[in-house]
Amino acid sequence: MNNEEIILKAYELMNESIIEGDCGKLCNYHCCRNTNESGEDMGIYLLPLEYELILRNTEFSKKLVVETHSCDDYYINPTLGSLYYMVCNLEKECMRDLRPIQCRTYPFEPMVINNQLKLVVQKEQDHKCPLISKKDTWRKAFIKGIYLGWEELLKISEIKAHIEYDSKLIIKEKNYQFILDKKDIFHNNE
Ligand code: SF4
Ligand code: SF4
Repeated sequence: MNNEEIILKAYELMNESIIEGDCGKLCNYHCCRNTNESGEDMGIYLLPLEYELILRNTEFSKKLVVETHSCDDYYINPTLGSLYYMVCNLEKECMRDLRPIQCRTYPFEPMVINNQLKLVVQKEQDHKCPLISKKDTWRKAFIKGIYLGWEELLKISEIKAHIEYDSKLIIKEKNYQFILDKKDIFHNNE
């Protein structure tokens, strides 16, 4: 598979809803907001190559504000140089087929330590996701799909470098509420 096919496969694997039904109705789509509490623009980072290979020149990208963030100014792996940062203006009218990985994986983030992939829910949250305190309602298909999707994405060296770099900061700052490894997900979660 080439890099584009890998990202599209991850989109498919990470297409499960976190709970039955539309979780956005619980919180008025809090994680889709495009401004923070102070009214400043708030967005998400796209993965390395995600914009170039998948999202650029789509109907979706026409609705986005996309900035380039340099590693000189932001905590970004210097080997990557920069990342695309997008502010989404769709909110309740999401083009779900094209929503980026960051939207699919939330509230999980990937963490790679000693070449082992884990899923974490970070302690510091920009969003008041009401589901974080209700883990028992999360669909197993969602959790498994997110893990398998990240396994695919880590086959792309630029994405792996990005995730490993961010993982160091998560560990250093102990910025996690809980961590699931592969065994938790596939052996204890049948
Ligand atoms: S792409 Fe969809 S899920 Fe992601 S922020 Fe925009 S509206 Fe929300
Ligand atoms: S904040 Fe949580 S409950 Fe609300 S839309 Fe996002 S994932 Fe769903």
